[in-house]
Amino acid sequence: MCGIAAYATGKPRMLDQAAKQTLSMLVELQHRGQEAAGIAFVDGSTGDLRAIEKGSLALDLYSEFLWGNGLPNVGTFGCIGYTRYTSSNNCAAMFTRSLAFGSGKLSVAVAFSGAVVNSRELCALAKSVAPELPECSGSSAQALLYAIYALAKEEKWDVVEALRRLPEHVIGAYSLVLLSSEPRLVVARDPRGFRPVSYSHLDTEMFIASETSALQVFDLEWAEVREGEVVSFDGGSVELTRARVLVEPSPCVFEYVYISRPDTYFNGISVYEARVEMGKNLAKVASVSADSIIPVPDSARPIAIGYSLESGIPLEEGLVVNKYVGRVFISSPDRRSPLSRLKYGVVKPVIDGKKVIVIDDSIVRGTTLCYLVSKIRKAGAREIHVRIASPQFRCPCFMGVDIASRSELFVWGRSSDEELKNSLGADSLAYNTIQNLVNSVGRLNVCHACFSCSYRFFGLSVEELERASRG
Ligand code: AMP
Repeated sequence: MCGIAAYATGKPRMLDQAAKQTLSMLVELQHRGQEAAGIAFVDGSTGDLRAIEKGSLALDLYSEFLWGNGLPNVGTFGCIGYTRYTSSNNCAAMFTRSLAFGSGKLSVAVAFSGAVVNSRELCALAKSVAPELPECSGSSAQALLYAIYALAKEEKWDVVEALRRLPEHVIGAYSLVLLSSEPRLVVARDPRGFRPVSYSHLDTEMFIASETSALQVFDLEWAEVREGEVVSFDGGSVELTRARVLVEPSPCVFEYVYISRPDTYFNGISVYEARVEMGKNLAKVASVSADSIIPVPDSARPIAIGYSLESGIPLEEGLVVNKYVGRVFISSPDRRSPLSRLKYGVVKPVIDGKKVIVIDDSIVRGTTLCYLVSKIRKAGAREIHVRIASPQFRCPCFMGVDIASRSELFVWGRSSDEELKNSLGADSLAYNTIQNLVNSVGRLNVCHACFSCSYRFFGLSVEELERASRG
């Protein structure tokens, strides 16, 4: 996960103007990471790259930097930024760092969304080509930046060429923005295209965001960065190239299920429409008669709409979400349960005495649904039937959906459907099929390893992936 955004312009601008564009997009990408946010910018007075990072929400940064005049009063070419979702095994972590490239006059900052499996290997490769690099901590973002540095060194400090070669060395998922003090802004997506990233180019301006919904802030027309594509902007024209080696794309199906906002398009497919289809298809394989359908807000709403359309059962808002609590799964394990309690309220008149279908997008650890089923029961539901838009979440993801260990998963150690249903405290529990999920998205080659445990897209077994991630 993580959200990335960037803005650059060929016309001289003050930093607050450039930062405003980047921060506006980051506010729209808050759902991709809520642990920290930051920007890096080219300081027009010195030509250096500078970064400011804080453990805050993007909106806090926006108000401090823009309304509170918290930014240096300098001109700039542009800035990149992120909202961070730090994970236990360093997957999906995202940092912005700068390094002195070449003769020391060129510095580069990178922000990325995704996860790098072979960070240590990348660090070792970078150090062998560029022993002058400081010690590498092995974090994903640092490993990527070091690999780009080493490849750029081999390519006469051409960062675009370095990004074209990057996929030959990385096992992992990345959608990244790179800002150089040339100045240049570059966006690149790995050839599998696991995570989304889009851009808008308007004469002398370039906007980049993880999701198209963030570009809508400016009512801009956008294009998605294609799998393996490298798009470079120097303040005027845009140059499009592709990775030297291309492979079969395998975008993450979980982006459609849960991660992306419903007003986003990913690979030209509306996330909202895909979710409605998931609901319709779910109703076909897991029908049950009931008085009403209750979505777990917010992500399951379009799914519940689809289920309602297909089944003819009315949809009602029986659960209320406190949006200020944010995405609970991102919190540390000891906080998830108490936060779930703070996050949801129950509308008793909608539930009392009723037979209800509770719809959610997925069950990962089960923290949310275990709590909600008991809450709905206490509100007087006569029967509770849980329906899930995706199949059982059974295996680890190495490409940015962080699961610290398999034993955390709801299905872990529970072998029968009966056991799973009883653990939730529901009267029945049914999941969607993989085929239905794939059909709902409408493209065959999505990665669904978290549900199917099939890692065929990476050409590596799960054991090999685990070994690579351990270094
Ligand atoms: P859970 O309570 O773990 O079953 O999950 C609650 C919600 O958070 C579900 O909608 C999941 O799709 C989502 N979720 C849980 N864990 C993750 C994760 N590691 N990455 C992304 N989404 C997650």
